[in-house]
Amino acid sequence: MTVAIVGAGVAGAAAAIRLAERAVAVELYEAVLEPRPIGAGLLLQPTGQRALAAMGLLDEALMLGMRVDRLFGDTPAGRAVLDMSYRRFHSEAYGLGIQRGALMGLLWGRVHELGIRWNCGAAVEGFEQDGEGVTLRLAGGATARHTALILANGSFSRLREGMKVEQHAQPFPWGAIWTVLPAPVGFPQIELRQRFRSASQMIGLMPVGKAHADDTERGINLFWSLPVAELEGWRERIGLDRLKQQMTTLFPDVAPLLAGLSDTAQLREARYADVWMSRWHDRRVLAIGDCAHGMSPQLGQGANMALIDAHELAAEVGSSNDAWPGVFARYSRRRRAHLRFYGQASKGLTPMFQSHAVVAPWLRDRFFGWGGKLPYIHQQSIATLAGVKTGWLWGRLKL
Ligand SMILES: Cc1cc2nc3c(=O)[nH]c(=O)nc-3n(C[C@H](O)[C@H](O)[C@H](O)COP(=O)(O)OP(=O)(O)OC[C@H]3O[C@@H](n4cnc5c(N)ncnc54)[C@H](O)[C@@H]3O)c2cc1C
Repeated sequence: MTVAIVGAGVAGAAAAIRLAERAVAVELYEAVLEPRPIGAGLLLQPTGQRALAAMGLLDEALMLGMRVDRLFGDTPAGRAVLDMSYRRFHSEAYGLGIQRGALMGLLWGRVHELGIRWNCGAAVEGFEQDGEGVTLRLAGGATARHTALILANGSFSRLREGMKVEQHAQPFPWGAIWTVLPAPVGFPQIELRQRFRSASQMIGLMPVGKAHADDTERGINLFWSLPVAELEGWRERIGLDRLKQQMTTLFPDVAPLLAGLSDTAQLREARYADVWMSRWHDRRVLAIGDCAHGMSPQLGQGANMALIDAHELAAEVGSSNDAWPGVFARYSRRRRAHLRFYGQASKGLTPMFQSHAVVAPWLRDRFFGWGGKLPYIHQQSIATLAGVKTGWLWGRLKL
């Protein structure tokens, strides 16, 4: 019997690859009939890059994406809020800005090379587990029997509720609209640039390279924060001209990039949820990726964590010939400190960047820039961004 993986996003595809490499028979179930490699630009941290390297995909990812050396965010008054350089963390460290589509293209290519069975248009609606295995219920009434089940179907998974594990998932009150636009000649492409007005307005620009190897144009991911309540019908209510005006008022330097934005259809909406679970396994069922620990994209960790999940799961499979409940329980223990730290950090930091709060962003503007000048605080901040921290004071992830 094979292991079923539900969801062929970053987490599901990476887990399928890493398990197949360990000679585990896996089968992917993906609800979308014809999955296309699309999605917002991602910043992959050194830890996620390490997991990609273990799959032999980092060199190709580097050819498609762009190295990001620095994160810089300020207010319209010119007060620096964030100024972090990967080089101050490690001389060879950098973030990798990449289009989600480019990353998915690499992962799915490897899924095909490894001959992994992949069912598209196969939405899983429920499951039951017993001492021998797990039975999946598919849309349309079919069932499928597997030895174990990995849930990798995103933050808004309903299947997670079938796990007998204390859990809660809270849709985040803020989301975003985003697009990838061609980088104008001379446009800076080495830093992730953000500008904030309090926590109620934020624009983010990140170099993300090419979608395909033969593309000539390199892209910049444009991110504009909006409350979820305003995402519905924003095209009619705000419209393109007003949106562009709001963006250039906040950050005039964005004007040349916005020349490539001519239709609201180019912009997509993103919603996210905070997912918390007391543990990530329930006997023969395991949750990974956003399904297990969804968070806002402020810390740039979601896809990164999904790759680490797959990497760490494979390490547990390799460490003994134990049955699946044992493997999943050990995985949960192995991931605990890292996942807990980033869950807490995301919950604490996100309202400083996306909310109607007044005090939190005021404190951010006064103290973040100042704190960043102190070597210890800068080290801690960049280590958090790099995805290596496993505790507030000490603890580093060893991959
Ligand atoms: C605007 C934005 C910016 C981001 N920036 C970053 C960043 O800079 N760095 C970073 O690391 N992360 C970032 N993230 C987060 C990152 O995109 C996610 O964490 C990551 O894509 C999660 O992958 P996943 O595979 O867990 O879930 P998903 O990508 O959500 O994939 C889930 C898959 O499951 C399928 N599915 C769902 N239900 C079923 C079902 N019942 N049966 C079968 N299939 C099903 C879906 O179709 C989908 O293909 C960002 C996210 C957003 C929205």
